[in-house]
Amino acid sequence: MLRPKETSVTTPHRRTRGRLLALLITLGLALCAAAPASASSSRPAPPSPRGHATPDIVDSTQRGGRAVALTFDDGPNPGETSRLLDVLRQHRVRAVFCLWGEHARQHPQLVRRIVREGHTLCNHSMRHDDMGDWSPERIRADLLETNAAIREAVPFARIPYFRAPYGAWGRSPEVAARMGMQPLGWSLAVEDWVPPGTDELVRRLEEGVTPGSVVLLHDGGGDRGQTVSAVERTIPRLKAEGWHFSLPARRG
Ligand SMILES: [Zn+2]
Repeated sequence: MLRPKETSVTTPHRRTRGRLLALLITLGLALCAAAPASASSSRPAPPSPRGHATPDIVDSTQRGGRAVALTFDDGPNPGETSRLLDVLRQHRVRAVFCLWGEHARQHPQLVRRIVREGHTLCNHSMRHDDMGDWSPERIRADLLETNAAIREAVPFARIPYFRAPYGAWGRSPEVAARMGMQPLGWSLAVEDWVPPGTDELVRRLEEGVTPGSVVLLHDGGGDRGQTVSAVERTIPRLKAEGWHFSLPARRG
């Protein structure tokens, strides 16, 4: 992510002591004045490259360098979500869980555990319908119902992201953004929905990650045992290579 340039101050060569003092006071006041703005919005929204009002769909991490964000879709799912949470806790990695509203209603205890263990929530619609040609009103109703289902398990839960089922975005980015949710894409999909075998998933993860990757994985919607096993093997290897785990960026 781009950060605003630091203010550079050149050292005055032949200034009197008084003028230097005045400069320092001015600089101090300027920094104080800037502080509340940077605290309330630490990541200013860059101008849209396309120059229109459609919100950007983020597909990179908040942090730079060897950072990667793990995102898990289609849960919560009693078998694999529980095991995945064990793995993430063991390695002290925090991830994003993109939940179906219906699954949240069926397994509220898992939603509570996801939040309790410091992970971040993402609205992934109520029933995983393709919203590609839905009206904004219909999308909004689904997203509201999904958030309500999640908050039946965890009242006042923060849900900072939205991901469209199948990546069929349609009008959903603008609707989600108006509801305070950042549309969340991905930059690496290892196609764990096939599933191709744990060894192959490990290979795809290790070879696929690049600085800032947002990785699409699944803990629900089918048997995701291979995904959890692959994550369990990949996290220590990535950490040993100096990778750290971050959240996806937010532009809003
Ligand atoms: Zn999905």
